[in-house]
Amino acid sequence: MTQDPTPGDRRYLDVWGVAKSFKGTSVMSGMNFRVDRGELVSLLGPSGCGKTTLLRIIAGLMEADEGSVVLGGRDISRFPAHKRNVSVVFQNYALFPHLTVAENVAFGLRARGTPKAQIAGPVDEALRLVRMEGFAGRPISALSGGQQQRVAVARALVVGPDLLLLDEPFSALDRKLRETMQVELKSLLRDRGITAIFVTHDQEEAMGVSDRIAVMNAGKIEQFADPSTLYARPASPFVMDFVGLSATIMGTVAASEGGLLTLDTPYGPLRARGDLPAGGAAQIGVRPELISVGQGENSLSVVLEDVMVLGSKTVLHGRAAEGDRILCELPGIRSGLARGETVQLGWEIADTLVYGGTA
Ligand code: ATP
Repeated sequence: MTQDPTPGDRRYLDVWGVAKSFKGTSVMSGMNFRVDRGELVSLLGPSGCGKTTLLRIIAGLMEADEGSVVLGGRDISRFPAHKRNVSVVFQNYALFPHLTVAENVAFGLRARGTPKAQIAGPVDEALRLVRMEGFAGRPISALSGGQQQRVAVARALVVGPDLLLLDEPFSALDRKLRETMQVELKSLLRDRGITAIFVTHDQEEAMGVSDRIAVMNAGKIEQFADPSTLYARPASPFVMDFVGLSATIMGTVAASEGGLLTLDTPYGPLRARGDLPAGGAAQIGVRPELISVGQGENSLSVVLEDVMVLGSKTVLHGRAAEGDRILCELPGIRSGLARGETVQLGWEIADTLVYGGTA
């Protein structure tokens, strides 16, 4: 069931120049997307951005109008889904309710004409991998949502896929179970060296499970990077807003010298590291946990609209004079801050994100 890694061949899946239209409306064009061998990559983006379309094109469940899909050096663009050796785990599990757990897992092997004698071993192994070995004879209807999803994963893995695709696999599960499944799936895929693509619109899920995340917006990949780069250095305001929270302030570049920008904003001058032309519009962003109470290299004053003591952190909801909402997260329990109070918030130049143009 493991893949057979070829030393030196890192680029594994290569989606090149893919375009797709529905009834004359383009939802994707010039899509390039590459995944390395053994990587766990997420497609993250708002509803309708094209995540499922891209996944279906890779799986062969939908045909692209243009472009190619190469997997492990083979151009599979014209292969039907069942010839691609790509397994898909769907959001709704898509299990056969009238079959037992073992029969569901065996389904893919039977469909491939695997001799009967060679089915029980791999099915047992797949069920063991997802910790469902004691459930082989149970009907699907007698399983919880989390158990059903484990069976769906076992069914996808039993055929030894070259690539595993997961389309919002945990969205029907409650939060605690979802987190458990994320941890389990991640270690399972890592241990087996399986290359996988995970579709989600939940940024925390994507951050938690992925080696790299492709943030999609309107049929395009805005940024494809590891979780820490995405969070610390989002390539666009869209990525900054979609991955994590941030305060956003608009301004005009008053000075640009040696990589240091000074922006005129409604709250006075604010500085950031960047390279933008003087006179242009710009947008500043700051992550809430990088803001503290008191003066910093950049500062502004806010009225506290709410102070939420959450235990592990205290969240301040501030409103600046021009109406901008500024979120500040302080570690632990902070007393002595009250709703309605005016406070100075400060942060460092190095922690200030800046983008040219208007929001
Ligand atoms: P969600 O998170 O809601 O599943 P998504 O990012 O997966 O969204 P897609 O399902 O790939 O988005 O859809 C991308 C765009 O293509 C959307 O505008 C959608 O309405 C459109 N679309 C997808 N499938 C079809 C179809 N069969 N016919 C017409 N339009 C479609």
